[in-house]
Amino acid sequence: MAYKKIEQYEEAVTNCLMANYKEVLDLIGEDSQREGLLKTPERLAKAMQYLTQGYHLDAKAIINSAKFHEEVSEMVIVKDIELYSMCEHHMLPFFGKAHIAYIPNGWITGLSKMARVVDVYARRLQVQERLTVEIMNAIKETLNPLGVAVVIEAKHLCMMMRGVQKQNSVTTTSAFDGEFQKNSTRSEFLKLISSKLD
Ligand SMILES: [Zn+2]
Repeated sequence: MAYKKIEQYEEAVTNCLMANYKEVLDLIGEDSQREGLLKTPERLAKAMQYLTQGYHLDAKAIINSAKFHEEVSEMVIVKDIELYSMCEHHMLPFFGKAHIAYIPNGWITGLSKMARVVDVYARRLQVQERLTVEIMNAIKETLNPLGVAVVIEAKHLCMMMRGVQKQNSVTTTSAFDGEFQKNSTRSEFLKLISSKLD
């Protein structure tokens, strides 16, 4: 299956994760037998599988499942796509918004597929820079557009809760290909994603 979302959990994986998380609870000074924590290893085992389900999903298959021939060559922008991921260094969440644009070259895809593609790569252990490039490449390699641009703005809990504790810093990453390497096209895109609709 190319892109069915996880609804069921593999029992062997869940059981193994549960045993490990139970040990983690005791190691950090908790009592894994305390009432409030009895079901925590199981919930965490399932949550972790849900949050990393992107490993089993195929972004290109998702786009190809809704790829349509269309003679348009105007910039298509999907902005403010909600994004939740986890940093691979601390396994703590980072979250924010992705903005994606492409200039079709005969092929378009369903707008909702952009959000799905973001999820495929976000629901893994990530660094924001790689996430940005992976999204761009999936679109580039399936739609073969004249250009693709991806901008991600995110807050990292590993920076906010620990370490430097820069509570309000937002990290912005971007990746541009094709037409978007031209200053004028890139500026138009950046202007459009920063403008408000109202
Ligand atoms: Zn981190």
